[in-house]
This record gives sequence, C-alpha cells and structure tokens, in this order.
Amino acid sequence: MRYAYWARTRIGRLLTVLLALLVYCLLLTVDGLRFFPQQIVDSSSLFTLWLRFGFSALAALLFLAVGTLVWLYARNRRVALFLFCFSCTMMITFAVETGAASNDSLLSVVGSISGVLSLSLFALLLLLFPKNYFSFGSSSHVVSGGELQSGQQYYSTLLLRGYVATLIFLSIIAELYSILRYLSPSQVPDWLDTVDSSYYVLALIGILITIIASYRRISSLRQRQQQRFFVSGVILAFVPLLLLTLLPLLLGFPEYSVDGQVTTITLGFLPLALGYTILRYQVLVFDMYIRRSVAWLIGSVGLVILGYGVFICGSLLFAHQPFAWVIFGLVAMGVLAPCVWILAKSITDRLFFTEMLHYQRLIEQPDALANETFDLNKASQLITLAAVNLFETQEVCLFVLDEDTGYYHPCPPLVEGENSHDEARCRLVQRLSQYTASAEAVQTGPSWITGNAVIVRPVASAPRPLLLSEAIRPDEELPRGLSRYLATTGPLDSRDPLLAPVRFQGKMIGMLVLGERGDHQQYAGPDFEALHLLFTRFSSVLQTACLYAQVNQHVTILDKLYSTNAVPIHDFETMDQAPMAYARIAADAVSCDASIWLYEEKEKRLRRFAFIGTGPRLVQQDVLTPSQEEDWLPWFYEGDSSQIWQGTSKGIPPCLPQASSFPFVWLPLNSGDQHLGLLILTYSRPHHFSREEQRVLGMFATQCVAALENVRMTLALRAAYERQKELDRLKDEFITTTSHELRTPLTAVQGYLELLASYHSTMEASMLDNFLAKASRGCEELALMVGNITDASRVQVDVKTMTLNVISLSESVQHVLEIIEAGARREQRTIQAAIPADLFVVADKIRLRQILLNLLSNALKYSPAGSDIEIAVDMNEEEVTLRVRDYGLGIPLAEQERLFERFVRLERDMNSPARGAGLGLYISKQLVEAMGGRIWVESTGMPDEGSTFIFTLQRSTAQKPALVS
Ligand code: ADP
Repeated sequence: MRYAYWARTRIGRLLTVLLALLVYCLLLTVDGLRFFPQQIVDSSSLFTLWLRFGFSALAALLFLAVGTLVWLYARNRRVALFLFCFSCTMMITFAVETGAASNDSLLSVVGSISGVLSLSLFALLLLLFPKNYFSFGSSSHVVSGGELQSGQQYYSTLLLRGYVATLIFLSIIAELYSILRYLSPSQVPDWLDTVDSSYYVLALIGILITIIASYRRISSLRQRQQQRFFVSGVILAFVPLLLLTLLPLLLGFPEYSVDGQVTTITLGFLPLALGYTILRYQVLVFDMYIRRSVAWLIGSVGLVILGYGVFICGSLLFAHQPFAWVIFGLVAMGVLAPCVWILAKSITDRLFFTEMLHYQRLIEQPDALANETFDLNKASQLITLAAVNLFETQEVCLFVLDEDTGYYHPCPPLVEGENSHDEARCRLVQRLSQYTASAEAVQTGPSWITGNAVIVRPVASAPRPLLLSEAIRPDEELPRGLSRYLATTGPLDSRDPLLAPVRFQGKMIGMLVLGERGDHQQYAGPDFEALHLLFTRFSSVLQTACLYAQVNQHVTILDKLYSTNAVPIHDFETMDQAPMAYARIAADAVSCDASIWLYEEKEKRLRRFAFIGTGPRLVQQDVLTPSQEEDWLPWFYEGDSSQIWQGTSKGIPPCLPQASSFPFVWLPLNSGDQHLGLLILTYSRPHHFSREEQRVLGMFATQCVAALENVRMTLALRAAYERQKELDRLKDEFITTTSHELRTPLTAVQGYLELLASYHSTMEASMLDNFLAKASRGCEELALMVGNITDASRVQVDVKTMTLNVISLSESVQHVLEIIEAGARREQRTIQAAIPADLFVVADKIRLRQILLNLLSNALKYSPAGSDIEIAVDMNEEEVTLRVRDYGLGIPLAEQERLFERFVRLERDMNSPARGAGLGLYISKQLVEAMGGRIWVESTGMPDEGSTFIFTLQRSTAQKPALVS
C-alpha cells in the first residue's frame, strides 16, 4: 500500500528513470556486440576485454544510479534535472566507451556528443548549485542597497547570460564537429577544430571560475561545507589518475604508470560526491555513519596509493634482492598503513566535515562547564542556549518530563504577555499546540504535552530526531525504503520544526523542539549529530537537575505533611475540627483535593467530615458503607487515561459505586484492628504515584490516625474534666442551698418548740395542737429532704438490689394521691387521674411510689396554686407510658436534659420559696432506668403552658404478682 502511494506520487520521475535505464541497456548491448570480437581469442585477452567492458558498464551504472537517486529525491528540482541530465550523458559516454575506444564510428559519435553535452551540463549545474546565480534576476533578491549594487547585478546577469549563450552555441558546434569528425573526417574544416578546442577551454575556465566565485561568495557554513565536499570529491576522483598514471609518465617512468582504466575507477567518486553534496542536507541519518563510510573510502584509496608507492620504491631500491624487497614492503606498509588510516580519518573530519568540528567546539565551550547547575530551569536554559548557538535560531523550546504527571512541560516556563522576550518560544509552542492539545493539559498547564500526544510517541520510539511533518504523518503515509533516510517532501519547508528526544540511560527525559534554523535551511543528518553531541554533553546535567527538583518537591511535601505536629490539638472544641485541619494540610501539601471520613462503628459506615478543594468528588453522597476487607486497604489509582504509566493498578475499592476518571488515593485510617476513618485525595490532573510518594502518603495516614485518636482522647478528657468541675460546683451549691433549705423547716420546728416550752401551760388546746402539727410537718419535711439526700447517694447501690414485681399502676397512683391530697386541697387544686384499674406494670412498688411522689410534688411545687394537674397513661403491648402534666412556668428547652442530673435546679427556683435539693429527678431517673424504662420531660418553656414529665415502664399482662428479676 505504502509503496503504491509512494510510486503514485512519483510516477513521472519513475518513467524518466525507466527510459534512462532502457537507454543504458540498449547502449550496453550495442557496445558489447560491437566491441567483442567475433573470432575466439585466448582466454586471458578475453578476460582483459571483459574487464574493460565491465569497468565502463559499472562507471556508467554508477552515474545512472546517482542521477536517478538525485532525480527521485532531490528537493531542488532544477538542480535535480541538471544533475540527472549530466549523469545520463556521463552514463552514455561510459556505456559506449569501450566501443568508441575500438574505433567504432557510431559509438564514437554517440560517446563524443554525450561527452560534449556533459561538460556544458556540468558547467550549467555549477551555476545552479551550490549557489544559484540565476536567482540574481528575481526581484526578491534585489537588495535595496543603492543604484550601484543594482547596476552591478545588472552587469553580472548580463555576463552570466552571455556566458551561457556562448557555451550553448559552442557546444552545438562542438557536437557538429564530433559528428563530422567521425562520420566524414575529410570534410571537417580546420576552424571547427579551433572552435571545438575553445569550447573546452571556455567550459573548463567557466567551471573553475564558478567554483572559486561560489566559494568566495558563500556566507553560510552549510554552503561552504557543500562546496568543500564537492571539490574534495572531485579531487579524490582524479588523484589516483594523476598520481598513479600521469605522474610516473611525466617523471619518465612509463613502466610504473598504472593503466588509466584502473586509476579512473575512482572517477566513480565524482557522481558520488556530487550526489551526496546535493542530497547532504536531505539525508536524515546521523552524520557519523556517513563520516565513517567516507573515512573508510578515503582510507582504502590511501592504502592502495601507499601500497603502489611502496611497490615502486621497493622495485627501485631493491631491484635484484627480492627478499629485501619483500621485507622493505612489509615494514613500510606496517609502519605507514596505520598512519595513512589515521590520516584518512582526520582528513575526512577536517576536510569534509568541518561543520561537525564547529558544532563540537560550540558545545564544548569551557564556560558551559562553569554554568552547570542543579536548578532545573537553569539546566534547561543551558541546553536551550547551546541549541540557540548551534542552530542560530531563537525558536528553541525544551520540554522536560514531569514524573508526577507523565507530561512534558516547557522549561524554563514560558513567559507570555506583551513585553515578553519569550515570543519566539511562545510561537513555537503555539505551532505545536494543535497537535498536542488535550483536555487534561488545561489542569496541568496550557502548554504541557501529554506523554501520549500524537507527536511524542513517534519521537520517543524513533531512532533519530523527527521533523514535525514526519511525527504527525498517519501510518499509511509513513515513508518506506530509502525515503526513510531522505527528506523528500517538497517543496522545501524550512519552517518544519525538529523534535529531538533527550534521553538519559535510554529513558526519554525531555524533548527539544527546534524552530526554523538561522540560515533558513532544513534540519538534516549533521544536525542530528550535533544534537547527539549536545545531549551526550548535557543530558546528565538535565537528569541531575530533574532528580534534584524531584527531591526538593518531596522534601516540600514531607515538610508540609509533617507540619501536622504543629496543629493545635488542644484548641479543637469538637471532633469535626480535626478532620478539617488534617484534610487542609494534605490538600495543601500534595496540591490536590482532600476529604476525611470518620467511621461510625454503630452504623458500620463512613461519614464525610471534611472536604477541601474545588475539584470533582470521588463520592457524591456523604455516607459510604465499606463492606469488604479490600475497602480497608490503601489504593493508589492513576486513572484510565494513564496508559504510559507502568504498574498501574486498574482496580478500585469495592465499595466505590463507579470507577473514577481521575487519579485518587484511598487511605484507610486504621489503628490496629480498629477502623477510625478514611483519607481520600483526588487529583484533577493526571498523576503518577511513585513508590516514594506512596510511602510518604501512607506515613501521613498513620500520623492522621494518631492525631485523631489524640483529639478524641483529649476531647473525652476535657469533657470528663468539665463534668467533674460542674459536679464540684453543683455540690458546693447543694451544700449552700441544702443548709438553707434544711434550716428553714428546722428554724420553724425550733420556734414552735420554744413557743411550746414557754407558753404550753397558758396556751389554748387548739393553738397547742396547731403548733404541734406545724412542728410535726416541719419534721416530716426535714425527714423527706434528708431521705432524698441519703437516697441520692444510695440510689446507685439500691437499683441493684431492687425487686421487680407485677403491680397495679392505679393502686400505686392512688396511694401517692392520698399522701398529697391534703396539700392539694389546701391549694385548691384538681388532680385528674385516668388510669385503668387492670393495668399492670413490672416495677418495685416502693420505688414506683417514690417516683410518682417526686413528680407530683414537683408539679405542686412549681405550678401556681389553683392550677390543675393531670395524670394520664398510654400503653401498647410492651410498655406503659405515664404522663404528669402541670400548668406552671414550664422548663426551657436547653435545660431539659440537665434536670435529670444530680443537684441541678433551675436558676429561677434557686431563690424561690419552693424548696428542693435538685435530687428528686435524678433519683427518679435512676429508678426508672433500673426498672427498664425511660424518663424525660416535654415542655415548650412558655409560661403557663407548663411541663409534662413522662416515664415508661414495662407492661405486664399477667395479673398475678410474679417475681421478675
Ligand atoms: P427539687 O425539686 O428538689 O429541686 P428535682 O430534681 O425534683 O429537685 O427538680 C430539679 C429542678 O427541676 C427543680 O429545682 C426545678 O427547678 C425543676 N422542676 C422540676 N419539676 C418541675 C416542674 N414540674 N415545673 C417546673 N420546674 C420543675
């Protein structure tokens, strides 16, 4: 499929190549047929003939191959066309060479015409490459530098056109001359010979001048490099011919002159050098591979020349001593061959690849060493600056991997805004953003790139840096075959950014994005090599800085988490405040949302007590019911989208209703086997939990457990202490009021007794009775009060020895009503009691009467004289509820609970005539509960609405008194 796509896009070029190949085959066939003799000759001369033929065919093929390569792939189509034509003419020249050499007139004409043509094509090619002289004419290159400059350009263009026209004209004549010379030598006029020679002279001079002029005019390092490569290639192609064939002839040693057929083998370097020069900045393989192969080539040529030189010297010096000759040869080769090999390598580097040396010098500047730093931003700046220097571009942006999120973020961070110096970088990131935008990036940072982004994955897996256009290419358009190593997308887009992975020990830790090169050329092999050098030099600096930043971050998190020690536990007034404080610490330390849940043992569920943050909640409702053991294990969930992260646990705690789309941490707060609660951290950005972080968070959870227990104990202690204080206060109050309360009836009794002692003889009988009755009532009152006081201290002991029987409720109520009847009548009250006679309860008879007496005497005491008192009952199968209602001042809601505690009296009753010790209700409550019931009060607290004291007792349906417990 991909090959078909490739072929479709290049169908025209392929057809041309096919045609050239056909011509090649045809010419070779004709050449072979004409060249090889019909009669059988001896095998050695046949071998020589084949050698000559083979060499020509190979040279022709080499030209054709290079021409084809350039024709198929070169971006500069005009250069490609000229080189292809030049290669074709050279191919024809070589293809017919053997035939022409054996004086076959037709082949000689063909060879001669193509030779003439190839020279002019070569001269024209040099006018286009590496410097394009024809672009002078185009308006875009006319620099506004005054009339003088444009005048000069005008003359240059004129001269150039004149040169080209003359060259073409002369070449046509030279071709005519070749045809005439071979087809009818007798008719060739002499002047044609002169024109032919002048054509060659003009073409050669033109070529030389163009090369020199180009070299002088070239401003960019790249063009100079291309020129140097090309010239060196040409020299290398001709050196063996000059040194091995021509030089011995010139020096008068024709016997040592190597056959031209052999020494022109290196002519094959000419197309290679030419092709490589044109394609060099389209070649997308590391420059070092090319350098290595060129070094090998040069080394091999050098060794051959050396070997031949040694051979000649040996023959001259030791002509008649074959043994010495061999020794000399071996020693000379042994000493000189390594030198030649090393020399070849250094010549290759210095002559052909000075660009690389230049890069090396820039990268290894000594001040870079002084600037090495642990600071991530500065380390990134170091790399960015080095890249700026190397490629003379301002558009350099280094993205560094953030281990926490798996995202790549620009480092140093981008400074956006009007006065920003970062404009070039912002522009570059903007260009990338259309391929990298992701919803999650909004939470991490607008220019952050996810590790899964379209452009990052191919960059991470490619063996070399990729151009943006390559990284975003869909699979079916991926280049195949040779196209993988040649940038063939045309027209030339120098703005295509380069994306280079920064690796440390095989792991990608960053991505360097380079915008347009300073010289507006496209990135290619030499740049890859330069980047390789750059990363070899600086990736360890970046890695160290990354690790340092990571450690710093962990230290900050640890610092914040351990600030829990500073939380003022003693200031908490309720249990809810502790989760809030710890959730806040966690959220602040880890920069996420945090919630703390406390476990309610009775209901067996977790209730949310604190949530800090604005992000989405893992659980919407405030209650969670953990059901399985796994719910009480820690979970670190990295979200569904985290495909690049390894070791991700895909599971979630079973009690969660659904899987989460964002990462979260689930940390149960357990103290031994006891479950205290749960800490949940939720991240609205992608997050990767390192082992270290998991450990730190686990430790924080343990600390939370200790803290929560501390708070719980502190609060319990404080409550106990408060209660104790309150009891002390009440006791003091009790002593004061009781002594006062006891004194009142005592004083009355004492008074009456004194009166009786003084006046009993003179006193009327009725008065005497009255005084005695009053004294006796005072004593009764004293007895009740003292009884209550002793009861209060005894009641807890008594309840254990209580005897519960089935008793009639109406009887008990009746009994108590009789006791208070006199008082009620005195105050003109009506006591309504509606109690079924067949209602039986399980109770202690005496104690039930005591309870009823307490409640009814309170109703009498705390309601105005004349107001009614009601006694009512409700019942169901199990319980009987008895209500004592009065229409007094009522009891405020806030006080209702407290009334049943020891010594508690309402403030308003402390100084009222109603006497009491605050023990009646306390005793009643103890007794009711001992009998298995409950007691409480209902009151609106509004005056005149009164209050209802209610208590329940177990109902008994059996009439016979029976011992219950
Ligand atoms: P005492 O009545 O001896 O003070 P109690 O324990 O019986 O002790 O009652 C405690 C307090 O409750 C009383 O001092 C009174 O302030 C309040 N109280 C009790 N019963 C009533 C009632 N029926 N109406 C209003 N206040 C009451």
